[in-house]
Amino acid sequence: MFLDQQKLALAVEMQAKSYTLLRWVGESVSSGLLSFQTAHTYSTLPLAAADWIDKHYLNIPEAARVARTDIPAFANFFSTYLENSFDLIESPGRIRFSPDAHCFCPMCSWMIDAPNLKTKSLSAGDKKRALRMQIHSILQIGIDTGAMLDESRAEAIVSDNGEATALVAYGHDLIQRLDAIANGPAVLALWRRFAWNASGSPKPKFRLSTQMIISAESDLRALVTAR
Ligand SMILES: [Zn+2]
Repeated sequence: MFLDQQKLALAVEMQAKSYTLLRWVGESVSSGLLSFQTAHTYSTLPLAAADWIDKHYLNIPEAARVARTDIPAFANFFSTYLENSFDLIESPGRIRFSPDAHCFCPMCSWMIDAPNLKTKSLSAGDKKRALRMQIHSILQIGIDTGAMLDESRAEAIVSDNGEATALVAYGHDLIQRLDAIANGPAVLALWRRFAWNASGSPKPKFRLSTQMIISAESDLRALVTAR
């Protein structure tokens, strides 16, 4: 299925808001503005996140806030953001909360660590999986357009269009994340393929837009159907 532009726009917005929310939580934990003494009984991160976001709704800065009706989808998305991108640090240098005085539900465990979260490092397997996702996105365009693409042609297109195929694969992943499906750090590898430059550092002022992803898909569609 071609990318659903409306869902994609929502997911792109939630991606930026997840980043803003996590940064705000990190700052608020560091300055002692958030407390974690309420004991929650949620078993899954998306459920715990939805409740947490709802309870803190009015404190959360506007740039990180979604409509109340979008909270469940945002909680799903935010959960995958944490799981795909960060590792919880086993023993942070500075412990702000005494272990017997805070909640250990999945959300509080993450939020307490927000100032110390470590970006996941990518393995060769993650990069391979990212490549598979790129190939899959081209094969999908082949199916959607009725062009008969074989695997080797798809691989060739990916190798000539790394950035565009990473954008489309990332777009498909963004939409899955609204349903709490986390594809793991491979997604981080996709992100770096278009948001970082060849020398391995983030492109200054890069900001992902729905249009970037839609244009990439449309360019690839033209390429796939050209022959
Ligand atoms: Zn909790």
